[in-house]
Amino acid sequence: MIAPLKIEPRWPDGSHFDVIVIGSGLGGLVTATQLVAQGFKPLVLERYLIPGGSAGYFERDGYRFDVGASMIFGFGQQGTTNLLTRSLAAVGKSLPTIPDPVQVHYHLPGGLDVRVHRDYETFLTELSDRFPQERQGIRQFYDACWQVFNCLNAIELLSLEEPRYVARVFWQNPLACLGLARRLPQNVGSLARRYLKDPQLLHFIDMECYCWSVVPAAKTPLINAGMVFSDRHYGGVNYPQGGVGRIAQTLAEGLTEAGGYLQYRSRVKRIVTQGGRAIGVELATGECYTADRIVSNATRWDTFNRLLDQPVPPAEQRWQSRYAPAPSFVSVHLGVRRDVIPPHADCHQIVLEDWAELEAAGGTLFMSLPTLLDPSLAPRDRHIIHAFTPSWLTEWQGLSPQQYEQQKQHAASQIIHRLEHLFPGVKGAIEHCSIGTPRTHRRFLGRVDGTYGPMPRRQRPRLLGMPFNRTVVPGLYCVGDSTFPGQGLNAVAFSGFACAHRVAADLGRR
Ligand SMILES: Cc1cc2nc3c(=O)[nH]c(=O)nc-3n(C[C@H](O)[C@H](O)[C@H](O)COP(=O)(O)OP(=O)(O)OC[C@H]3O[C@@H](n4cnc5c(N)ncnc54)[C@H](O)[C@@H]3O)c2cc1C
Repeated sequence: MIAPLKIEPRWPDGSHFDVIVIGSGLGGLVTATQLVAQGFKPLVLERYLIPGGSAGYFERDGYRFDVGASMIFGFGQQGTTNLLTRSLAAVGKSLPTIPDPVQVHYHLPGGLDVRVHRDYETFLTELSDRFPQERQGIRQFYDACWQVFNCLNAIELLSLEEPRYVARVFWQNPLACLGLARRLPQNVGSLARRYLKDPQLLHFIDMECYCWSVVPAAKTPLINAGMVFSDRHYGGVNYPQGGVGRIAQTLAEGLTEAGGYLQYRSRVKRIVTQGGRAIGVELATGECYTADRIVSNATRWDTFNRLLDQPVPPAEQRWQSRYAPAPSFVSVHLGVRRDVIPPHADCHQIVLEDWAELEAAGGTLFMSLPTLLDPSLAPRDRHIIHAFTPSWLTEWQGLSPQQYEQQKQHAASQIIHRLEHLFPGVKGAIEHCSIGTPRTHRRFLGRVDGTYGPMPRRQRPRLLGMPFNRTVVPGLYCVGDSTFPGQGLNAVAFSGFACAHRVAADLGRR
């Protein structure tokens, strides 16, 4: 069982800290633990009862469900891209993990059925067998992604806003840095079209991107894809024993044991500024705290449109004109009888019946069955299925409580109907069903419209369109999935490493 959290006494009004971090998502926690490891005493303020945000968990009827993320990168043991392993180690912690032999099993239009095996050659063989005429191009495409990954994996991943670090990394690894610089403006779509011709295969590459970037290949930066498409075969996808919630909880333990602070039920209502500089925060409960630096783990939209007590700066307006909030999800968390799930089923599966629906609300269906890796998450002889599909908040607004309930039931039954094709009999085997909507995501995660994160509005974005951690408001930093490099646990951990590095450099203690 995950141990109940100890509720610390609240800090009195007027307390001062080195750094205040708003939010204990993975981005906020990695920032705070990196800072505490460097001798700072940050305070993390979390509006909810437990840490983790989108990487949190909830328990019902003996099941422990992951709120969102279940396909976890960053737990490798080698190289520099294993940022979850490294962030835990920074505060003297580690977690046992279970290797996932298949990153994802795709069930795609036209009967295209592909598993992305942990072993690179097995994956290439399986995909090439589906598209024998493209065998050479498939290898060239994925090998090109490895070149990007090898450059990333050769350097220490810290703040690209810190000139001394950039200069040091460049002199240590000039070839890796030049390789990355060359690829920064490239997107996956143009690389794919250089090597691949088959329209069905190009759709497959779109799905390979969409399932984590929520945009197709032409809008997905090559640098991000290089990381995902290669690290799944290098560090691999590994599930933390005891559930994804263990990551945030263990980081939180490491933070407080090392001298940092974490205060729950502490919703920041306002970032306080003085002469245009961020100097503190005001909680919904009335206390005000000040700090030398403020870091926001809320999304950029929430930070600048809601929390900041001054007009949205022009630089943020420009970013908001380039990036839109991606849709949220409607999700079902099911507890089902074990006998309806084949024992060799894959933990992560994706279903799409029509390529035209790839990005549509209710189109792509994502599914995780983490009990296939860790049976301790469910009662004996039971499995968990978390199935979710994109949905916009607007579809769930203006409803009476009764209409809302009916719409939830309808959405859940559509998802369960699609699951029946994969797991015949699943409908009759359901013993628990919790339904989440964009309203649930907005309420429990504090994210505008319940969004999954930013998505570029235009084709062919440059990766550097995603901002780093410093903002135009002096003293205020952002961290998490609306900063470079974007969504995903390992990505927001990267953002946390970079943010802590930049804050520490600005505070002059590095
Ligand atoms: C359904 C779903 C499935 C996903 N699947 C995967 C996956 O398989 N693999 C993967 O790597 N990623 C996955 N992701 C993405 C990943 O979970 C996120 O990108 C990542 O967790 C975001 O972390 P974050 O730190 O940026 O923000 P968040 O997780 O949103 O954390 C922000 C925290 O700040 C708190 N907060 C916000 N405002 C305030 C305030 N005003 N005062 C105090 N506290 C505040 C929130 O309560 C929250 O705890 C998934 C996401 C979802 C929603």
